[in-house]
Amino acid sequence: MNLILLGAPGAGKGTQSERISAKYHIPAIATGDILRKAIGEGTELGKAAKSYMDAGKLVPDEVVIGIIKEYLSSDACKNGFILDGFPRSIPQAEALDAMGVHIDVVLSIEVADEKIVERMSGRRVCSCGASYHVVYNPPKTEGVCDKCGANLYIRADDAEETVKNRLKTFHAQTEPLKDYYASRGILVTVQGQEEVADTTALVFRALRPFEA
Ligand code: AMP
Repeated sequence: MNLILLGAPGAGKGTQSERISAKYHIPAIATGDILRKAIGEGTELGKAAKSYMDAGKLVPDEVVIGIIKEYLSSDACKNGFILDGFPRSIPQAEALDAMGVHIDVVLSIEVADEKIVERMSGRRVCSCGASYHVVYNPPKTEGVCDKCGANLYIRADDAEETVKNRLKTFHAQTEPLKDYYASRGILVTVQGQEEVADTTALVFRALRPFEA
């Protein structure tokens, strides 16, 4: 299954992509995680991305398209993949088409803006890619990742003002992708629920028709 996850920042794409990845044994490619790692390591990629991410804006297309090309050409993706956070604009979707990448289904997780701002204040993440919420999806031990034992942290771009900018960016540049993929008949939508497990149940049900 070649899958794209769409949704506002904080809609739960990262969390659901972990669940989908575990169920279908396909890797998740999260451009945001890749960029944060590059920033942490101080690489050229990180330097190119940092100011945009701090402002809640999209990193330039050529940067993220380069990342996607590299990952999708790896063997790990040959039996399917989840794209979490890419494409985020029509030009990025067109670049994916131009690469000849076939997409089976685009799953959009819908959450109202008011909820997003509230949720982001409780988000805690790990450098391994795992994502938690202090109320809705807490780790077993406070502040510690269940998966790898590292300390959790608050993303710099989860500050309220930046979240508002990220939402504006989402509505202006990413949301039009819903029509782009709906016109091909491959868009499915689920309403993001408060409880992670409830959203996961809806997600699995929505994906069932696309199982190989
Ligand atoms: P995320 O972890 O998906 O919320 O992404 C965090 C930030 O990384 C975004 O606000 C953007 O600045 C940047 N980013 C991630 N994916 C992309 C993309 N496909 N295109 C442009 N910028 C991206």
